[in-house]
Amino acid sequence: MSKQNYYDILGVPKNASSEDIKKAYRKLAMKYHPDRNPDNKEAEEKFKEAAQAYEVLSDEGKRRQYDQLGHAQFEQMGSMGGGHAGNMNMDDIFSSFGDIFGDIFGNTGGGGRRARGKTGPEPIRGHDLTREVTINLKESYLGTKKEISYYHFVTCEPCKGHGTQKGTKAQQCSKCQGAGQLQYRQGFFMYSQPCDGCKGQGFIIASPCSSCHGASRIKEYTKFTVNIPEGIYNGAELRITGKGDAGVYGGSTGDLFLKILVTTDKKFKRVGDDLECSIMLTYPQLVLGAQVEIEHIDGTKLPIKVPKGCLVGERLIIPGKGFHTLRGNVSGNLVVITKCYIPKKLTPEAKELLTTYAEITGTGTDDNEGTIASFFKKFLG
Ligand SMILES: [Zn+2]
Ligand SMILES: [Zn+2]
Repeated sequence: MSKQNYYDILGVPKNASSEDIKKAYRKLAMKYHPDRNPDNKEAEEKFKEAAQAYEVLSDEGKRRQYDQLGHAQFEQMGSMGGGHAGNMNMDDIFSSFGDIFGDIFGNTGGGGRRARGKTGPEPIRGHDLTREVTINLKESYLGTKKEISYYHFVTCEPCKGHGTQKGTKAQQCSKCQGAGQLQYRQGFFMYSQPCDGCKGQGFIIASPCSSCHGASRIKEYTKFTVNIPEGIYNGAELRITGKGDAGVYGGSTGDLFLKILVTTDKKFKRVGDDLECSIMLTYPQLVLGAQVEIEHIDGTKLPIKVPKGCLVGERLIIPGKGFHTLRGNVSGNLVVITKCYIPKKLTPEAKELLTTYAEITGTGTDDNEGTIASFFKKFLG
């Protein structure tokens, strides 16, 4: 697979509009179309490469994910499934983007795709599946690996997804001539209903595969490990190509969507790409300023300077120590919010000093009355 990125393949800038992407793809598809380049392997490769790039960039969701993850990571996610667009065959390309070829190549019937006979089963794409993965905030900060396990349909190995015993083939249903429907007339009306000879399928498997009983796929328990990139946010969806349900009768495999749920943390909070936490400081530290240390979510200790006369609720910022953003190579900030520690108990010495401080500054306490009380005392007797 090419190491080039999809924008380069299509020759468009990163901020290209969907219209520009479509235009660029049409141009390449026309240039390298197999009808114009018969038996030209290189053209076929370029044609497939362009289709793969277009498949991703023309889909808003996929494009966003591609932009976020970058080329290498995106391909890695895709290749895990083995059903990535990179493995698209010509039929897949024509069936996915037929509308584009439709107007290029005129009336080639759905864009040059060979019409399938109704003698056998039609391939149907497998369903996309969705699973949730819960990670904690630290894992979302650092990135993590998670084992995913689930049931899904896989192509039946013994029959390679044909659903038939070796050496046999599906037959067109003779009752409905492959239509899957039978038409009846009642008075003026024609109505149709599914053919009972083939259960509406249009074909009959006389000798079904003994493993899948003709279904062409079987349910299987699958486990694999997925890389969850650093900086992933709560609610993000990772698309893992080709890990959904296998298609029926040779249809392509669906995708697996992993919805990432990030649990809340006792100490830290994500706000945008910033990581927020609070720090408890004593009154003298706030007044006089201090050099303190804070433990980051990744366990490292960071020095932080509390300025003189710092207020409670002040936001002290450590640049670049927030979340690594998936888009671009930048990070948010660590925002440390100051709090004042109020001791419940004081030693007699500390209490005396604090009382003295209150007297000097004229801010009364319980023992010698508050400022407002002393104000009234002074003026009202
Ligand atoms: Zn039938
Ligand atoms: Zn089978």
